[in-house]
Amino acid sequence: MGKSPVIKSTQELKRIATAYYKELETATKDPDKKIAWCSSVGPAELLLAMDFEVYYPENHSAMLGASRTANNFIPISVAQGYSPEICSYLTSDIGAYLKKETPFTKAYGINEIPKPDVLVYNTNQCRDVQDWFSFYANELDVPIFGINSPGFVNELKQSHIRVVADQMKDLTEYLEEITDHPFERKKLQERLKLSLECSTIWLEVLKTATNVPSPLTFFDSCIHMLPAVVLRGNQIAIDYYNVLKEELEIRIEDQISAVSPEKFRVYWEGMPIWGKLRALSDQLYELKSCVVASTYCNSWIFSDFNPNEPFLSMAKAYTNLFINRSETGKMNYLKQMIHEYKIDGIIFHNARTCPNNSNTQYGMPKRLEKQTEIPNLVIDADLNDLNVYSEEQTKTNIEAFVEQLAGI
Ligand code: SF4
Repeated sequence: MGKSPVIKSTQELKRIATAYYKELETATKDPDKKIAWCSSVGPAELLLAMDFEVYYPENHSAMLGASRTANNFIPISVAQGYSPEICSYLTSDIGAYLKKETPFTKAYGINEIPKPDVLVYNTNQCRDVQDWFSFYANELDVPIFGINSPGFVNELKQSHIRVVADQMKDLTEYLEEITDHPFERKKLQERLKLSLECSTIWLEVLKTATNVPSPLTFFDSCIHMLPAVVLRGNQIAIDYYNVLKEELEIRIEDQISAVSPEKFRVYWEGMPIWGKLRALSDQLYELKSCVVASTYCNSWIFSDFNPNEPFLSMAKAYTNLFINRSETGKMNYLKQMIHEYKIDGIIFHNARTCPNNSNTQYGMPKRLEKQTEIPNLVIDADLNDLNVYSEEQTKTNIEAFVEQLAGI
């Protein structure tokens, strides 16, 4: 059975990810260091500018999914009264905390999750982050600050941006009290500059997949997006993406494709199914179908950052997210991606526990197909809860979908 060629930069990725988590572990033991927990599209640059080490619980949850251990922990949260229908990132993470286990021990050699000094979330992605972080605020008796973002925005207006920018300024004052040292605008500008550069190169990495054939797949990108999520605002993420981009450009020059031969180009809409990345990648390889692009991996591109207007641009970038847009805004984005990545078909992932990141419930797949004539398939699954996933059903549906693309 054929497989995608291995991306050599993955070794370097493992090294920097391990260093990041080791540093957090060291910071936990150092009374002079402070740790902030941040939702994945929260204002990380502000926290870094205030000298916090930043930890992202969602990355832990993704690891629980990828290591296929999430289902050991979801029932523990359910026993605490959380519904199995809510975000399985939340239920698996809280369950793992209560059971005092983490896949980070095996992956990065750290024994426990870094202890927070403050919890900061942004509802730009969903309300679940508020409830998730509130659990830890109560449990660990830690201060918490939430930014409430306007949602389902069609066209982002100055009034939307101002409302978020003001809350970010309030957060700054809140952090000044916690850290007992003043905010320095220059430090925030420096972090935004680094994040913008990281974003730009991450986008260039993803855009190598516009090449036919593509040098990488969505399944690769799910692994290599880690620095854009947890290390944005740091030079190390930029250095990493330069290495990865160079490797992919060499692949293009040498005509090395991620799927060989690449017959169909597919778009993935929605969350990854973390525990099934390998199985799906292998099946699609066999079907000569390359998943070349996704909404998910593009969600950590913040092109609106502008160090000269730190608060306004940060507010704009973190509100101008796909997940936070109206159906019309999302459809326009998807049409642009279909065109840019020369897409033959779309797989929509209807994630049981994340309606926020599932665009299957208000008629979008049918509307999009009608307007673009690009066929799609809706997969019923979940990001972490594999109990709601039918392997056989999904396999059969994907097979039938690719036959449809082939016109069989
Ligand atoms: S966007 Fe979905 S997966 Fe992410 S925290 Fe919210 S509910 Fe969970």
